Amino acid sequence: MDGKGLAERVRAEVKEEVAALGRPVGLATVLVGDDQASAIYVRRKREACAEVGIESFHHELGAGTSEEELLGLVADLNADERVTGILVQLPLPGQIDEDRVIQAIDPVKDVDGFHPSNAGLLFQGQPTLVAATPSGIMAILAAYDVPLQGARALVIGRSNIVGKPIALLLLAEHATVTIAHSRTRGLDALAREADVLVAAVGRADTVTKDMVKPGATVIDVGINRVDGKLAGDVSPAVEEVAGLMTPVPGGVGPMTIASLLRNTVKAARYQSGALAFPGA
Ligand code: NAD
Repeated sequence: MDGKGLAERVRAEVKEEVAALGRPVGLATVLVGDDQASAIYVRRKREACAEVGIESFHHELGAGTSEEELLGLVADLNADERVTGILVQLPLPGQIDEDRVIQAIDPVKDVDGFHPSNAGLLFQGQPTLVAATPSGIMAILAAYDVPLQGARALVIGRSNIVGKPIALLLLAEHATVTIAHSRTRGLDALAREADVLVAAVGRADTVTKDMVKPGATVIDVGINRVDGKLAGDVSPAVEEVAGLMTPVPGGVGPMTIASLLRNTVKAARYQSGALAFPGA
């Protein structure tokens, strides 16, 4: 499944929407510390913003930044009308409580969809700003017309960022969803029953060829470094049995960024009053 190609089309759509909006759209990105991978992700997000006409306001803070300093910046960004979306790149250094920071972001600017208001509204079946990776996965499944109603879906991983929200989105599309995690027993047998399998673990070769039902749709969220090379959570040989599968790189990653751009435009609409925000 070509996430890269699909993401290009979504970016083109977003570019038109931004131009038609008639008001500036701005994404604030906040990077704390010197995590290499985080720096790369933030750079890609800012490049994507530039491509579609979203202004980006970037803030880089040192690894020793206190929670109060970061909360102060978030308060400033909440109040800044030019900033229609706020993204604080995770993970944060150990001295900062991530939950407090996430909760400090104005829910209508929460383009990551991690604020409890947005996560709770998703739980209640009223999706607002939904986390970008799961949104991107749903867009890939829709683009390939993957049947979800009544399908058996297995989500491996239960993080707030990927596992839990993708499980809720699949459930909303009437899939029969199972969530597996590090303490799940009999993962292989669960996997073999899945029509749709989402792996969001962070460990290469978590899903091997013998675990996949022939013809199943396999979504590989994982980003792992193996001998200096990028690898997903799914063994490449799974391609021989899967009906459809996302590659790493070029699958979920580009669609995550495209969905972030979509969320940033949606957030601007909430703030202009063009869209009603159910959580307000
Ligand atoms: P996380 O570490 O928060 O969660 C990992 C989950 O995997 C946990 O719920 C854990 O219970 C489960 N797990 C661990 N070992 C397991 C095992 N042996 N069997 C079954 N389950 C197991 O990670 P996350 O933030 O959800 O990210 C998961 C992966 O997805 C990482 O590789 C991350 O880099 C990647 N990711 C990619 C994108 C993207 O845009 N492509 C976005 C977010 C995360």
